[in-house]
Amino acid sequence: MKSDIEIAQETTLKPINEIATSLGLVEEDWEPYGRTKAKLSANLQEKLEHRPDGKVILVTSINPTPAGEGKSTVTVGLGQALNKLGKKAIIALREPSLGPVMGLKGGAAGGGYSQVLPMEDINLHFTGDLHAITAANNALSALIDNHIHRGNKLQIDPRRVEWNRVLDMNDRALRQVVVGLGGPARGVPREDSFSITVASEIMAVLCLAKDLHDLKRRLKSIVIGYTYDEDPVTVEDLEAEGALTVLLKEALRPNLVQTTENTPAIIHGGPFANIAHGCNSIIATSSAAKLGDYVVTEAGFGADLGAEKFLNIKSRAGKIQPRAVVIVATIRALKMHGGVKKSELKEENVEAISTGVANLEKHIETIKSFGLPFVVAINKFPTDTQNEIDFLKEWCTNNKVEVALTDVWQNGGAGGLELAEKVVKAADEPTADFKHTYSLEDPLEEKIRKIAQTVYGANDIVLSKKASNQISYFEKQGWGNLPVCMAKTQYALSDDPTQIGRPTGFTIQIRELRASIGAGFIVVLTGDVLTMPGLPQHPAALNMDVTDDGRIAGLF
Ligand code: ADP
Repeated sequence: MKSDIEIAQETTLKPINEIATSLGLVEEDWEPYGRTKAKLSANLQEKLEHRPDGKVILVTSINPTPAGEGKSTVTVGLGQALNKLGKKAIIALREPSLGPVMGLKGGAAGGGYSQVLPMEDINLHFTGDLHAITAANNALSALIDNHIHRGNKLQIDPRRVEWNRVLDMNDRALRQVVVGLGGPARGVPREDSFSITVASEIMAVLCLAKDLHDLKRRLKSIVIGYTYDEDPVTVEDLEAEGALTVLLKEALRPNLVQTTENTPAIIHGGPFANIAHGCNSIIATSSAAKLGDYVVTEAGFGADLGAEKFLNIKSRAGKIQPRAVVIVATIRALKMHGGVKKSELKEENVEAISTGVANLEKHIETIKSFGLPFVVAINKFPTDTQNEIDFLKEWCTNNKVEVALTDVWQNGGAGGLELAEKVVKAADEPTADFKHTYSLEDPLEEKIRKIAQTVYGANDIVLSKKASNQISYFEKQGWGNLPVCMAKTQYALSDDPTQIGRPTGFTIQIRELRASIGAGFIVVLTGDVLTMPGLPQHPAALNMDVTDDGRIAGLF
């Protein structure tokens, strides 16, 4: 089997105007960004407002292995397969972050014969959206430090500045820093930190904004820290929202590309799925829904994180209700949930799957709790054995769960036809029972408890003293009606990454809360959640090169 990049480089891409035209777009609706990428126009949404919405299909997964379970791959493959069935389908995906590309994970542009292209651009600088977010985030940092340096009229307590700097790279040395050292000409010393760009609240703001006006409104209400009297200080107090909107204006426009089979794909925004909500932008998903009969989109990590947040946060903010959910499961991850070591995942082990399948079972219950129809997609890996696949299919049949063996990685859309047919059928079912996990009127503690119990299967939550004080303070500030955004390990249903499978009898420790008022949610931190990843022993970056004729090699 060829590598992702070899397959990508052998694919003949259509000029982007052909893709735009296939969507019924005219010249004023988009702007070329090179030959194979385009940005949609800022006013396209308004222009398409009167059109009916296509059906949104949400792709999620079981708790993943560190390598990912192929959600992006299945998302792309399903979009291609729907097109093969004669449906007008569009894919809506997140933009990859450079940090994981240079680090460990591999590309975030799908894989095999189900990729979005040009994968080199998409995985690297693309159309500069992430750089714009980095610039806007750090402009705000500079304005905060300048304000403090110039007399600090707002009385910002330098020890309570919550806004930190960002970089789109895994760089553990920057996790904790001191800025402003070196005397009066270099500012006021204070402790600061760096997060990866995708963890910036600005990324979440961009992805949840409905339009330019809403972007500015959200930017204004970002809380950057607190005064000596412990009152919140906002971007509006600093009068910075204009400058930030200027920096983000172009980044707010979704990007149009195509897949390995020339299916249209809109790629826009990519917030972390722990500290933020982990879904591509509302503008991208809504625009895609106006342009196609089906939109296949993805939410980061497993259903306990990405899908929960899609359905409780993005769905509310963008008034987007999926018509069906695809739960991606892999044989290797189910074996891992059954206790098999990473080094032994390639060996047949039906018994481990029979234990590990409990993890899938919990995610199925979660999607049922939202009242949505779903299909389980077995993302077939070359190492899966027939016995293992048969066992999983039988388990699904015995539990009256629709399942489709999916081989889009090796065969493109043709490998996803069964899944596409089942998804079309599921999406035709009525979804009148769709319900969120909690009501916005629930107190913050109750919202957290409902997620922990319904989605994670926990007995209860335990609040630290700090978290408990923060809840009282946040509710006093009038932030109690916001949804909550849980930051939890992606590897397990509990807050302990070693509790694989389907743990029971556990409690979720709530360590701390953060107010993301611009994004419009309260972040709830469980366990230790890092917002700046580090590089592994052998970073993926060390495999990369460029040939003398300009061809990139070693990018997956
Ligand atoms: P996720 O979206 O769940 O993080 P991706 O779709 O990005 O996962 O896939 C992660 C990696 O796994 C990619 O490098 C992709 O090429 C590879 N991959 C995905 N599905 C398969 C498969 N069925 N067989 C082999 N490799 C796969």
